Amino acid sequence: MVEQQLNNALEEQLASVFGYREFRQGQRQVMLASLQNQDSLVLMPTGGGKSMCYQLPALIREGLTVVVSPLVSLMQDQVAALKTMGVAAEFLNSTMTPEQTQEVYRQLNQQQLRLLYVSPERLLQPAMLERLHGLTLAAFAIDEAHCISQWGHDFRPEYGQLGVIRQQFPQVPIMALTATADASTQTDIVQRLQLHQPLIHRSSFDRPNIRYVVEEKYKPIKQLVDYVVRQRGVSGIIYCGSRRKTEDLAERLQLKGVRAAPYHAGLEHELRASTLSRFVRDDLDVVVATVAFGMGINKPNIRYVAHFDIPRSIEAYYQETGRAGRDGLPAEAVLFYDPKDAQWVRRMIEDQPNEARRNVEKHKFVAMQAMAESQTCRRLVLLNYFNEYRSEDCGNCDICLNPPQRYDGTTDAQMALSCVYRVNQQFGLHHVVDVLRGSKSQRVIELGHDKLSTFGIGKAESHEYWLAVIRQLIHRGLLIQDIRRYSALQLTEEARPVLRGEVALALAKPRLTALTSAGKVTD
Ligand code: ADP
Ligand code: ZN
Repeated sequence: MVEQQLNNALEEQLASVFGYREFRQGQRQVMLASLQNQDSLVLMPTGGGKSMCYQLPALIREGLTVVVSPLVSLMQDQVAALKTMGVAAEFLNSTMTPEQTQEVYRQLNQQQLRLLYVSPERLLQPAMLERLHGLTLAAFAIDEAHCISQWGHDFRPEYGQLGVIRQQFPQVPIMALTATADASTQTDIVQRLQLHQPLIHRSSFDRPNIRYVVEEKYKPIKQLVDYVVRQRGVSGIIYCGSRRKTEDLAERLQLKGVRAAPYHAGLEHELRASTLSRFVRDDLDVVVATVAFGMGINKPNIRYVAHFDIPRSIEAYYQETGRAGRDGLPAEAVLFYDPKDAQWVRRMIEDQPNEARRNVEKHKFVAMQAMAESQTCRRLVLLNYFNEYRSEDCGNCDICLNPPQRYDGTTDAQMALSCVYRVNQQFGLHHVVDVLRGSKSQRVIELGHDKLSTFGIGKAESHEYWLAVIRQLIHRGLLIQDIRRYSALQLTEEARPVLRGEVALALAKPRLTALTSAGKVTD
């Protein structure tokens, strides 16, 4: 078929099978390339419409399109959706009975199927490859193709072997798709899949309807619960770093009358499946989850994604927050952040035995932390990371909406730094603030810290105010928290000139709008 005919055929199928009138940015181009047997690399953000890029051509060309997909749940969702649209699609994976598998083989042999979804392990089995050689193949689509890259945030060893496809089926075009697109990952995908002069399409990674917000943790659990309660009735996902926390937070939310449930890989398969389907049906408002939740969940009306713990990379953060607002309506991504959490993550990364891997993880985390601590438009930081440059601030992130105001923080810094010095650099944030504010707590009295010259010198300001000041001193490298010694604050060399009054220090005015009380807060 010539290009015009292909075009018409695509438009016809788009309307009749999927019920859509227009292609999204890049879709048509990618589909035409595929139909003309060109390899392609498709970089589109989550929700950008990647799957359509291989599904639609599969309907108008002869032969079978094989889709490699890493997750069983993702395959099942897509195949189920295709079947309801009357498309002959099936999957093969380890959860199926021998009878079910035989039935798929039968349909394959009779060339009845348009699309077959398989896991990489399954595809690479010699018997499976053998079977495919006996069929007419139209195309391969490699979904979540970043899993092939060591530089990716989600490397899967099985994906590493997919180069076999090109060797065994040199005539069949390959389409690689991903929502992760740093330059090294891209190069890796092209090389490892041996793509030949691929069409490379990248859509903008901007999700303008998502508002990015970072809230510093003061009293984290209360902040999170209050946040969710304020959003009552709309769908949201809360990501946290441990299974135990998901259960604990879900329970606390339930006590406040929120329809919440935990989700993590340690829960029974049936329970996870029912949680997911309740969430999709809006019978559940909030899922409190580990990263095990999400890849491939197709729910357009998620209004917020909250991170209770900082993710380890911008890719992960972007992908997780990208599940919000797929319907294009306003949504929010809120990250609850404490610099101390970042130190824990760094320490965990240090424990990674493989040096190359450790360096990649460090590098990625540095970028994530910079985004969390950014004093400039967060969206620009994000897009920059994906090599998409803009000069205009976005107007829809916490920094743009409520810009940090600068003030001469030299005196504040001197008070805080000398207080750290007076307590012999052996105490953490909250204690230092207690001393600064002249707290008569039992601990302060017992330690004799009420006798220090810095006791009470900061009583004019709230506890949160001082936390925010000290955290900036940490960000600026004037103080460090010794994570091995109960996060005790210690002065660095950088602190000296400030203490001696040799340099002035501009700080951002602590933004405490979200906080109600000016009183003492402890975790
Ligand atoms: P991705 O795989 O990139 O995360 P999907 O392929 O799941 O995204 O698509 C996200 C949503 O957008 C789906 O609901 C899909 O039906 C819809 N979609 C895809 N292409 C179009 C289009 N051209 N017009 C309207 N909706 C589309
Ligand atoms: Zn902004």
